[in-house]
Amino acid sequence: KLPPLLKREFQTATFNGVSRELHQPTLRIMQWNLLAQALSQGEDNFVLCPEEALAWNNRKLHILEELLTYNATILCLEEVDCFDYLQQNLADAGYSGIFLPKPDSPCLYSAHCVGPDGCALFWRSDEVTQIFQKGIVLHDDDGQETNQVALLCRFTLKELKKEFYVVVTHLKSKTPFWQLRHEQGKYLEKVLSEVTVDFPVIICGDFNAEPNEKVYQVFRESIMDLGSAYCHLSPQEEEPSFTTWKIRGGTHGKNKEVAHCIDYIWYSRSELRPISLLKFPSEDEIGKDRLPSLSYPSDHLSLVVDFGFIKHLQETD
Ligand code: NDP
Ligand code: CA
Repeated sequence: KLPPLLKREFQTATFNGVSRELHQPTLRIMQWNLLAQALSQGEDNFVLCPEEALAWNNRKLHILEELLTYNATILCLEEVDCFDYLQQNLADAGYSGIFLPKPDSPCLYSAHCVGPDGCALFWRSDEVTQIFQKGIVLHDDDGQETNQVALLCRFTLKELKKEFYVVVTHLKSKTPFWQLRHEQGKYLEKVLSEVTVDFPVIICGDFNAEPNEKVYQVFRESIMDLGSAYCHLSPQEEEPSFTTWKIRGGTHGKNKEVAHCIDYIWYSRSELRPISLLKFPSEDEIGKDRLPSLSYPSDHLSLVVDFGFIKHLQETD
């Protein structure tokens, strides 16, 4: 029997020192690299993770539970190599979704391949109407297509009749590729700043980059006037110390532990205000063998943020 999923709580922003419950409808966004099944059992080499935790029949239950627990309006997902499973099961909960595989997914070369991985975007059809979608293959500085992608959608929030864009992306992995990530980020930022002029934008992703990388600055300094939601809602305006925490096997039996912040939810500061966020578990709650585990199906934690539309908040204050 599978132990329960890691329990996490929401933290609501305080205004003038007072936490204020909002009664206005908000937009809940989840960002999550849910860990490709093919990579979890191969490439990734999570040596301390029990085998049962990586078995698909167990993982698929916790993945679905994580996706359904917070009842987000929109789910932005990376490393999805199980789109059919998600589409079938999330449809029962009222979600529609789209998927864009990476051009040459590393999952295709894994012994545990179940299909290519890519980015997926799901939305609650009772809360939003999807009115536009675009798949983007990220280019490098030479104008060449890379193996990384993004998905862009425009929605209307039915209750407020507000329109907005949501983007999901997954930049090139591994530390030495910081330059390629920078190029991919510049390309994405340019495309988005041209397309999303009319409405606010929310950009979710596994950027594979800590806040000190150049690609982070590309979004921080974008003409789209973006803020990073977890950073904005933290007391010191700092990014979290980790969004992923894992131990991989290394050479000579030396394991490598990595805990760092590489996942973000960017938003248009002039029109959206982050109201609350899903807190991360403590080191003890994560456990000494880190992630993934029997209590959590990915090495990345989900980020969940509630946004209010500033204009509407002022009107109803
Ligand atoms: P990336 O480096 O961007 O993606 C690698 C994926 O593997 C990411 O999802 C990454 O996760 C994950 N990953 C697994 N193990 C590790 C690890 N130890 N360190 C870091 N990340 C890890 O690669 P590309 O998409 O550019 O694909 C690689 C290319 O390699 C493809 O074009 C393919 O042709 C080729 N390939 C060929 C193989 C072959 O056998 N011929 C095998 C594999 C790939 P995260 O983002 O969370 O870090
Ligand atoms: Ca990964």
